[in-house]
Amino acid sequence: MSATKPEKNRDDSAAPNFIADIIDDALSANELTRVVTRFPPEPNGFLHVGHAKAIFLNFAMADKGQGSFCNLRLDDTNPEAEDDKYVRAIQEDIEWLGCDPGERVYFASNYFDKLYAAAVSLVEKGLAYVDSQSPEEIRENRGNFYKEGLDSPYRNRSVSENLDLLQAMREGRLDEGAAVLRAKIDMRHKNLNMRDPLMYRIRKAAPHRTGETWKIYPMYDFAHPLSDAFEGITHSLCTLEFEAHRPLYEWFVENLDSPDTKPRQIEFARLNIGYTVLSKRKLHELVEGGHVEDWDDPRMPTIAGMRRRGYLPESLQAFCERIGVAKKDSVVDVALLEHRLREDLNAHAQRTMAVLRPLKVTITNIAPEERYEFEVPVHPEYEELGKRTVTLSRDIWVEQDDYMEVPIKKWFRLAPGKEVRLRGACLLTCDEVIHDENGQAIELRCSWDPESKGGTAPDGRRVKGTLHWISEEDSTSATVRLYDRLYTEEEPNSHEDSSHLDFLNPDSLETITEAKVHKELAAEAPGHRVQFERLGYFCVDQSSTQDEPIFNRTIGLRDSWAKLAKK
Ligand code: ATP
Ligand code: MG
Repeated sequence: MSATKPEKNRDDSAAPNFIADIIDDALSANELTRVVTRFPPEPNGFLHVGHAKAIFLNFAMADKGQGSFCNLRLDDTNPEAEDDKYVRAIQEDIEWLGCDPGERVYFASNYFDKLYAAAVSLVEKGLAYVDSQSPEEIRENRGNFYKEGLDSPYRNRSVSENLDLLQAMREGRLDEGAAVLRAKIDMRHKNLNMRDPLMYRIRKAAPHRTGETWKIYPMYDFAHPLSDAFEGITHSLCTLEFEAHRPLYEWFVENLDSPDTKPRQIEFARLNIGYTVLSKRKLHELVEGGHVEDWDDPRMPTIAGMRRRGYLPESLQAFCERIGVAKKDSVVDVALLEHRLREDLNAHAQRTMAVLRPLKVTITNIAPEERYEFEVPVHPEYEELGKRTVTLSRDIWVEQDDYMEVPIKKWFRLAPGKEVRLRGACLLTCDEVIHDENGQAIELRCSWDPESKGGTAPDGRRVKGTLHWISEEDSTSATVRLYDRLYTEEEPNSHEDSSHLDFLNPDSLETITEAKVHKELAAEAPGHRVQFERLGYFCVDQSSTQDEPIFNRTIGLRDSWAKLAKK
């Protein structure tokens, strides 16, 4: 059963979004009839929550205007790093986020013929040439911010010579590094991206999903604007690092023969979140270095990891809307995301009791065959979700942490002679403690007050402590994984002399193998979310089975890091 309820008093007001404003203005001025956007991931890793921001933004913009849509374009122009498993993961993640491109799934590699034709046309117009300088010479002659570039000695080759050489490149008759195709723009341009940028380079080894054996591969700056134009994209939304590439983007679009549209590039700030890294390269380092289990490890900021951790897609969406779209990079407080997640889980997760580190309790005044059933609400705020039954019997489990041999001041939980409330059931007094040979308490012998059914004493005596518990009768053993933040530093990337790997949190995963959970939970499907009362929100792991149930802690009930920070 799943408890799903709308929440109260939620603040969904999104921060202002300058891109939405640009689009709304264009639509109301009739400069535009429909909006066409695209999300263009490179299939060289799993998507992370930064990508989620870009996905939600692109799909939200394509909700404006009549006949608008958003394409998914897999930017597979760099075959060395790419893999079909990433293509599948990307599609699965986007679908889970609730953004459906439908039939509009494209591959940049499908445009290789059209791109090549466009390149030939630029050569014919005298706007591109084959450069035979070595890669080092090209780099050297490009100049830098202070130094103008130098024209290549091959810059003024004739059109026919260029066409012959381009053909030779394509057919693999030239070696890697022997030649490149460059746009002929201006070697003295202030913007380095405009200094005769590369369009194609020779790459022989890489097999490609097109099946065709291309010996040359287009550069991103050339392939991307053209792919946008081929698909009729109106707004090409990308992150700020592409701002300086915009003039080149426009140059390629401008010089394309009869484009369907002239897409407009608009940049926005990338999402950064504290205590994690949002860069595929660094995520690769975590996976390949064995610092996490895989791309979908629940500690990873990948969409697959967050899904496995128990995140709700609507929490990610609301978070992305809440933080808005900015023009300036910043680091978003992870507490904002976690707060939103807790709110959503509070509304969605049914309550149950589980004991993570069990301490045996024998209730000596209950006979072995006696059973008492108590009805407790499935959700404290939503009565309409009904009741669940918990069974009290002679043998029960409580949390080791809820017992203290020599209690500190204001200890309201179990200790020798102390009375506590078993949540939803009764009052219970600790009469005797059994120790092992090391003096460790291994069993509490207690007695219950049969008059206190439900948890209140008929004489009205005050019992402050209420503990979660589970009877042997109701329970089954489970593995529980307690996840914490992956890094101990809010900005693991900000330290010049050290790697993000130096700030990994050694306690980001604790695995408990003999927890006690309600036996009915073992049958729940992967992804099922519950609140273990007093402990946090958990979900059934994807590798969980009825015989060996596994639960992942999505998040604790309260922000324990905020307390630490205060101290
Ligand atoms: P990374 O820097 O993690 O390797 P990337 O930019 O190389 O990511 P792409 O697959 O090229 O990854 O990204 C696809 C789209 O997602 C791009 O349009 C990019 O601008 C956007 N994107 C990537 N990272 C973020 C982020 N942190 N916040 C917002 N958008 C992002
Ligand atoms: Mg990129």
